[in-house]
Amino acid sequence: MKSNKLVISLHDVSPKTQAIVTNQLEELHAIGVKRCSLLVIPDYHHQSLISLVPSFVSWLQEQADKGHEIVLHGYYHDRPPSLCDSIWKRLITEHYTAGEGEFYDLDYEQARTILKMGKAVFEEAGIDRSQLFGFIAPAWLLGKEAERALIDEGFLYTTRLHGVIDLQEQPPRFFPAQSMVYSVRSAWRRITSLVWNELLFQYATHQKWRLLRVSLHPVDWKYQFIKSHLLHSIKRALKNRTPMTYESWLRQE
Ligand SMILES: [Zn+2]
Repeated sequence: MKSNKLVISLHDVSPKTQAIVTNQLEELHAIGVKRCSLLVIPDYHHQSLISLVPSFVSWLQEQADKGHEIVLHGYYHDRPPSLCDSIWKRLITEHYTAGEGEFYDLDYEQARTILKMGKAVFEEAGIDRSQLFGFIAPAWLLGKEAERALIDEGFLYTTRLHGVIDLQEQPPRFFPAQSMVYSVRSAWRRITSLVWNELLFQYATHQKWRLLRVSLHPVDWKYQFIKSHLLHSIKRALKNRTPMTYESWLRQE
């Protein structure tokens, strides 16, 4: 096994994105990636409760059986704007994330309730809850209170844009490793993203980062040049990195 590692996470997995995620997994498999972390949303935007879609549940279980990891990724994956939000909060939650910062400012009790709801949905769907080790907040926006709730709900790790947090240690241990991630909401973002991610990839390679993280979103697949850059980066990374899930990375770290 190569000593440097690669974790590819597929964000926003839900019945609505199942077809695209299936295609992403197939393309990754074709270039040699057989294990990814799948970030599953229990009820995407209140419209897609996974336990009500048996075909999705059986597909998800199939992916887990193949060695992919299931990660809890928020619950609804949205955050309704509040009238009392400050300008700063609005900037972060609506402009930076397009209103998806569900875990940005939850208090401890709210976060715990939502995490319990998420675990219950998996149980209801018949997916083994003991396979659920990680939680990753939508847009990586996770407040301190919510992080505490994660520990008390038994999650072993979470990630932020800049690294992975091992919640089993007290205080939680932070492993720096900025993720490659593309922003595709507008033409200028797509171009900037491409340049930025190439620079980040070069830097991580040059500095011999022990862990390279690549985050894919379903919408990345809409843009051929973004998709090509993603696959090309992963192919280059595979020359000296072993692909694995966050859970297995954490266990060997
Ligand atoms: Zn997401």
